[in-house]
Amino acid sequence: MKTVSDYFGSLVFDDRVMKANLSAEVYASLKKTIDEGARLDTGVANAVASAMKDWAVSKGATHFTHWFQPLTGITAEKHDSFISPAPDGRVIMEFSGKELIKGEPDASSFPSGGLRATFEARGYTAWDPTSYAFIKDKTLCIPTAFCSYGGEALDKKTPLLRSMQALNRQAMRILKLFGNESVKCVRTSVGPEQEYFLIDKEMFQKRKDLIFTGRTLFGAKPPKGQEMDDHYFGVIKPRVAAYMADLNEELWKLGILAKTEHNEVAPAQHELAPIYTTTNIATDHNQLTMEIMQKVAARHGLVCLLHEKPFAGVNGSGKHNNWSIATDTGVNLLSPGETPHENAQFLLFLCAVIQAVDDYQDLLRLSVATAGNDHRLGANEAPPAVVSIFLGDELTAVLDAIEKDEPYNGAEKTQMKLGVHVLPRFQRDTTDRNRTSPFAFTGNKFEFRMLGSSNSIACANMMLNSAVAESLRQYADKLEGAEDLNSALHDLIQQVLRDHKRIIFNGNGYDDAWIKEATEKRGLSNLRTTPDCMPRLLDEKNASMLISHKVFSMPELHSRCEIMLENYCKSVNIEALTMADMAKKEILPAIEAYAADLSSAAAAKKAAVPGVACGYETRLIQRLSALVDQIDEAAETLGQKIIQLKMIAGVTEAANFIRDEILPAMAALRAPADEAETLTAAKYWPFPTYGDLLFGVN
Ligand code: ADP
Ligand code: MG
Repeated sequence: MKTVSDYFGSLVFDDRVMKANLSAEVYASLKKTIDEGARLDTGVANAVASAMKDWAVSKGATHFTHWFQPLTGITAEKHDSFISPAPDGRVIMEFSGKELIKGEPDASSFPSGGLRATFEARGYTAWDPTSYAFIKDKTLCIPTAFCSYGGEALDKKTPLLRSMQALNRQAMRILKLFGNESVKCVRTSVGPEQEYFLIDKEMFQKRKDLIFTGRTLFGAKPPKGQEMDDHYFGVIKPRVAAYMADLNEELWKLGILAKTEHNEVAPAQHELAPIYTTTNIATDHNQLTMEIMQKVAARHGLVCLLHEKPFAGVNGSGKHNNWSIATDTGVNLLSPGETPHENAQFLLFLCAVIQAVDDYQDLLRLSVATAGNDHRLGANEAPPAVVSIFLGDELTAVLDAIEKDEPYNGAEKTQMKLGVHVLPRFQRDTTDRNRTSPFAFTGNKFEFRMLGSSNSIACANMMLNSAVAESLRQYADKLEGAEDLNSALHDLIQQVLRDHKRIIFNGNGYDDAWIKEATEKRGLSNLRTTPDCMPRLLDEKNASMLISHKVFSMPELHSRCEIMLENYCKSVNIEALTMADMAKKEILPAIEAYAADLSSAAAAKKAAVPGVACGYETRLIQRLSALVDQIDEAAETLGQKIIQLKMIAGVTEAANFIRDEILPAMAALRAPADEAETLTAAKYWPFPTYGDLLFGVN
């Protein structure tokens, strides 16, 4: 039998394959490009392309594609075959360095937010050699960045790579101050925990809402939900276990370090977590993981739902972005060290994150904003829309002591002076208990928990990296000129803690009292919906920071803001149309059919037993008839609002209209329909119920 180590990474053009298939010079030159971003000359590119093609063809590949991540949120690919005609009528398989390095897809159908005038509809894709090429569906996939002809980023990878560079640049300045000369670069790593639902495919296909929108728009609460807490970490059912085994195998072949799997809180909900890796690779891998999850599900007669809120009344799905900063020499800069010197450095990086999260709360919030995720944040199942940091009691006490120049009341009762005392060792376990914080320190990494399950992790990480780069820039500017580094460091850390401690909150993030305190006493922002937060991207404070670190240009920011709002509008508009359609074509006719049968039954009864009351039928028909009127009226109102929405020209105004008018109209339609479901005989209901969907996979 084949073991995992036999096939792990078998579909990846990774370091092993490169070493084995490239000449020593070409390999060395490529390695330099991967590790240090050095330019690749044409000769080397041709040699790499040729080796890649031979390898891919030997694995059965016939095509290649530049694989990229446009702002639609999913990945895109356009396949070209390797074939090239030979004079004698045969074909040969060809792939040049030019084709490897640059592609020119017709980009006019991808969102550009006004960046690309139609006369320059072409965009181009550029190879990202730091993320390995791989084979998927007989196609060699080359991870690429996607830009307009003018060089503006039209994708998620480009700004992510730029943000990693920005953080690297500033972190290196700090490390130099601490006398660290051996480090060549600093990178962030991410391990994203991915939640999802699995439901039966036949049932899925009977629901237009799931087909068109990925979530249920109607559905009464089933008798059983998640109240028994019996699903979380529960025994995995055979059909799900078979799916997970198959999924792991596919992911492992692609070199994705799928590690942990378990059932989640809601029925039919599960989680998959890989081992963490460099952020841009983790991002590519997470996109691939989401794609493979859905493909493998189809093979098992299942559908994998990645929507943030597929079902009302049970938990939705998120993605926890575990994030840390490490040197190429393997030192995690967010890990408390052994010596006072290391700990001063740790505290400075910790402060950089604290300040970044406080200064750029709005950027972090908007980096996870989508129509789907708006349903989760603040709904007592996911962190609130208010961003805060959980540090745990012990670390908070240490920071308090530093801030106030007071003795630290931990086990050692020592005065905390930087550069003099060793910090107490942090027990990871003591810091990992709070599950309600949007941004939790978990011993040697931060866990950003606000991401929605379908979000690309690129957005959150580009904001996080940039914001931390900005804190570090400020610190480096100050400290580089300091006469006495230790005392300057002490004063700086103290000042940062004084200025930014409002962002630290160790209590229950789901508590209403916290939202009150956060917004009223601490002045933290509470941006509840996508239309509330997205325009903040263009605020002077945010734009100037992102531009100064060369993560975005102003036109790129404008285009992102527009595209994100447009995506929001389109998603909700589809939902609204689907609801109106289901109400009129499925729900109302079903209730009417049932009511008609009830009244014929009553008439038959009366004929058989003259004078019989038929109280049950009469009462039920009355209630159903009232609900039918309500549903019809609400569907009519929703339909009118959809027409009004069409008339609105600006995307910001449209998004606000959706938040204020369309979403409430959808809720008003759902309520009577769900009530009618509870009163209608099962065989009349036109599509599978929550009970069927949530408990249908065994
Ligand atoms: P949890 O208790 O949240 O399930 P785990 O230790 O299982 O915590 O970690 C969850 C994720 O965090 C995994 O993807 C793991 O690889 C990742 N992770 C662990 N250490 C780090 C680190 N230093 N940097 C980034 N991610 C990390
Ligand atoms: Mg976790």
